[in-house]
Amino acid sequence: MNPIAGIHHVTCISGDAQRNLDFYVRVLGQRLVKTTVNFDQPGTHHLYYGDATGSPGTIITFFPWPGARKGRVGNGQVALTSYAIPSGSTGFWQNRLKMLNISYSRVEERGEETAIQFSDVDGVRIELVAHASADKVPGWDGGPVPAHHAVRNFFGVTLWEADLERTSRMILTLPGFIRGETVGDRTRFSAPGSVARHIDVIHRPGQPHGGDGPGVVHHVAFRAATDADQLTLQAHLQETGAGVTEVKDRQYFRSIYFREPGGVLFEIATDTPGFLVDESPEMLGTALKLPPWLEQYRGQIEASLPKLAV
Ligand code: ZN
Repeated sequence: MNPIAGIHHVTCISGDAQRNLDFYVRVLGQRLVKTTVNFDQPGTHHLYYGDATGSPGTIITFFPWPGARKGRVGNGQVALTSYAIPSGSTGFWQNRLKMLNISYSRVEERGEETAIQFSDVDGVRIELVAHASADKVPGWDGGPVPAHHAVRNFFGVTLWEADLERTSRMILTLPGFIRGETVGDRTRFSAPGSVARHIDVIHRPGQPHGGDGPGVVHHVAFRAATDADQLTLQAHLQETGAGVTEVKDRQYFRSIYFREPGGVLFEIATDTPGFLVDESPEMLGTALKLPPWLEQYRGQIEASLPKLAV
């Protein structure tokens, strides 16, 4: 079985779509790489942000639920999404956040990592991890942040879990992941890829479970290089009793879903075909794209969606 290279994307729930877009594009400096709808609920947007082409490991996506009751971050969720920034960029980001009136945590030193945390407009917790692994990765030069300080790929995600060992067993059935060090209440699991490779689990026994709504992460997806790899993983997950779904066509990748025993929804998404399947690199994100099976409803869908300005 081929190893999982790391994280493919992270999907969250937001409130108002425009406010969400303004934060990820103007504050974080990501590119809006796809404007589409929630395929399971086509009257609402699905927005994708990433690097210049939406490479696996850089993509954060949002389902806007404007007006919905705020979610609650708790056990059984991805509580923190971490981006890698170059090793010398922490000061730049502190100044930038200060300038934009975004309050951030004190700087945390964790071995070779220097981290600062803040929330997006709806409360999704974001972390920037300055680390040497980001120094070799080019930054996008089309955004509001100078390319040499721009956020790169994800560094990893942090799960809050009531039972570390139960979740550990599940993660270790994913091919390629190894269990690393435990420091305090944090245990690290790492995939063999060079980017977006860490799952940190914070052990929080007895703490309340989270609940869905704006401001929380909905699921995290890991990478399968090909459809064949995905089918092999699906069979493997079935054997381990993980309760995995059938393959769903998400237009830009194909997906299978399963829940780890602590409650976090995991997905395996294929690297192919990617975001250039229906738009040129220059035009990414600029028009509402619909999958072929929804194209006949375009009129109704467009009428039900709020207008967005990039
Ligand atoms: Zn997903």
